[in-house]
Amino acid sequence: MPDPATTQELRQQNRARVLRSFAAMDRSSRADVAAATGLSIPTVNVLVSELIADGVLIETGQLSSSGGRPAAQLGLRPDRAFFLGADAGERGVTVELFDLRLARVDRERRENVTRLSTFDEVAQAISRAVEAIRGRNPAADRRLVGMGFALPGIVEGAGPNMAVGAKTTLHAQNLGWEAPVAELAAAASGLRLYADNGAKAMATAEMFAGAASAYLDALVVLLGGGVGLGMVVNGRLVRGPHASAGEWGHTKVADPADPESALCSCGARGCLEAYVGEAAMVRTWRGLRPEAPEAGWQATEELLDQARAGDQSAAKVVRHAIRLVGRELGNLVNLTNPQVVVLGGRVGLRFFRDWRDELMGHIRSASLVRPGQQFQLAEASLGDDAIALGAAMLPYNAFMDGLRPGEDAVGHRSAALAPRNN
Ligand SMILES: [Zn+2]
Repeated sequence: MPDPATTQELRQQNRARVLRSFAAMDRSSRADVAAATGLSIPTVNVLVSELIADGVLIETGQLSSSGGRPAAQLGLRPDRAFFLGADAGERGVTVELFDLRLARVDRERRENVTRLSTFDEVAQAISRAVEAIRGRNPAADRRLVGMGFALPGIVEGAGPNMAVGAKTTLHAQNLGWEAPVAELAAAASGLRLYADNGAKAMATAEMFAGAASAYLDALVVLLGGGVGLGMVVNGRLVRGPHASAGEWGHTKVADPADPESALCSCGARGCLEAYVGEAAMVRTWRGLRPEAPEAGWQATEELLDQARAGDQSAAKVVRHAIRLVGRELGNLVNLTNPQVVVLGGRVGLRFFRDWRDELMGHIRSASLVRPGQQFQLAEASLGDDAIALGAAMLPYNAFMDGLRPGEDAVGHRSAALAPRNN
């Protein structure tokens, strides 16, 4: 006989598989879930009964079946659990509330903080946004599982499911932020905390419900003020032992020892972000046309609009950026052989919509012929919501794995502190 711990673990895993199957198929029957998971009908029946008793699943109707009696149609009960996701982004912070079907219930933005703000200012802005949302949604507040944070930089030392522990640290070298993520606890009073890098959060969301959901191998690219990447290999987001894998924005595209190479906000020279990040593109444009707008997202919009409309100086800047992004993506295509390259972020979406063929040409000219023909180029399909949704999916995934609202946070915390990779 297997030992009890193993039996318990197996049961938990099967339960998570059944739950995820209902999440993926929306409304389905016990037989559908058995077919999708490969579990036996009796096993599925037992687990479904448990999940109904737990209030996670509800009967939503009847499915007609050929021959026999109609089968019960089941689905996740949306108001059984709720999740908060925070995007500490470049144009402010956004906090969003999602239900168990990951439908957005509420949203709160604070635009007065930017990438130039301090970590404390960002934490305070998130705190006020969270208070507003919780105040407006008292019923959801009682069923909150936890809160996920998407942060700019490397989130090192998180536990399973990216749970935040005392040793979890944010290293955002380009913002000058070096902070224990647990300091955000005040912003989410009483909630379990989870945290991940913003580009990885976007990739998590796009893998679940967006442009990468049909693929096991994907590059999810975030182009905006910063340049980020989520590399998905065989269905898993690549993090590396210390969570820094995918720091693509600091790939050197010019000699870092050459004083002529562009200076990056990380302190080094020659980084991709120092050429194709929003601030860099706007700065280059002003060098060509001094009357161009100075900075900020409006300046980037203006640049992209003018480039599309055929303005020579704007098009020169944008086409140079597309050439660099395309070349570096071509290198990544050779390295990772993706099935899809997803472009997201405000600049990424515009590159896809306005310059798709040109970008594809540059990617292909930098990659080998075969891998260059083996991927699709796609736009991120979840738009601006993707990052907050990806953050909320951190507690969502913990819930799917068995965590319930209101469970003892102390027991959870010690588990979160267990080392992840050694
Ligand atoms: Zn850099």
